[in-house]
Amino acid sequence: MRALPPRAAAIAIAALLIAACGGNDDDTPDMGSSPSPSPPPLATVGQPTETIRPEPEAPPATPPDSGPRERSEPAPTEVPDSSTEPPPGVVALFPGHNDLDTDRINLVVAASGWGDFDRFVAFAKEILTFDGEPLLLDENGEPTAAAATASQAAFGLFAIEPWRSSRQLFNVWYLTEQADDPTPTLNRGQNVSGLPNELVVYLVPDFEFESVAGQTSFFPPDLPDRDGGFFFGDVLIDVPTTAPFSVASNLAHEVGHAMFGLSDEYVGDFLGFDGRSDLTSYPACAEDRDEAETFWGAIAGDVDPMFEIWMETLRELGLGFRPADVEFFRSRVTVGYVDGGCYGVDGSYRATQDSLMYGEIPVLGSANRQWAERVLALWSSS
Ligand SMILES: [Zn+2]
Repeated sequence: MRALPPRAAAIAIAALLIAACGGNDDDTPDMGSSPSPSPPPLATVGQPTETIRPEPEAPPATPPDSGPRERSEPAPTEVPDSSTEPPPGVVALFPGHNDLDTDRINLVVAASGWGDFDRFVAFAKEILTFDGEPLLLDENGEPTAAAATASQAAFGLFAIEPWRSSRQLFNVWYLTEQADDPTPTLNRGQNVSGLPNELVVYLVPDFEFESVAGQTSFFPPDLPDRDGGFFFGDVLIDVPTTAPFSVASNLAHEVGHAMFGLSDEYVGDFLGFDGRSDLTSYPACAEDRDEAETFWGAIAGDVDPMFEIWMETLRELGLGFRPADVEFFRSRVTVGYVDGGCYGVDGSYRATQDSLMYGEIPVLGSANRQWAERVLALWSSS
């Protein structure tokens, strides 16, 4: 990941204040959005230290046996395309899946600044990992079909729970027109696709700032009545042309902001205390022990089941961690009381050491996941 430019860092910190304070926008950044920088690079796994980035061990050296991997699209038997047509310029990204006759969230992927539009569409199909399986990348960061040639497995949005098991709640589209400047839409005020329940993900090659996410009305802990009006934030993903597929988990992280109002949990550890007055950000950041016990005391000791899926998937691919490291990572996603909280202040707490909202690992953590499932239930129960 690139280093955060000073201006972007300032914007990010201002925006983080907005996110944590639930809409106090005295310092609204000039982009009109809520930037959410990717966490800085972390250390390599193998020697658990203070800051860890899970990098699988190198796979056994075996000869490549095939060319670039083509992801299998979801079986069209799951849900057929509806008889209702989408608005002009809106096309199904995964033919056979979408159904406009069913109440669903419409995830819309949009291009901005792509020279080759077909490449954008192909990239969008890959990066969402819509078949629920991670994207295998070789040592150059390019997709590979064979686990034997993979050096890492990138878990995109739909390879991570609860999105993974909720694909039937989503239609996924792309826009045929590229956006000139997507930033004004990030804090809403306009519908881009003409579809209801819209969340737009802009993929922007070499965007000048870090990836950003707009605010959602599903800002915890209040679960709004859908009839009372609501919105998701939009997301803008900086796609570095030198390593485009590296953004798979970053996209999921930003959707965590834009869809569920989850907060960045790495701020204190990586950027230092930013001076904010409010250390509370439900569901995973609490200002003191009492509040922490109120927020997640009932699930203390829980491990998000996605952790086991993550570990098992890596094991099957030959990319698994050593047993000691598995236990180390399990401890990092076990719900407890992590002193320092999300903003680096002693006596404040966060629910887990690591999460999608901390180090962009493919595990939300049980506190975040519980809230995310409550939001998704507004669709699954309707
Ligand atoms: Zn973020």
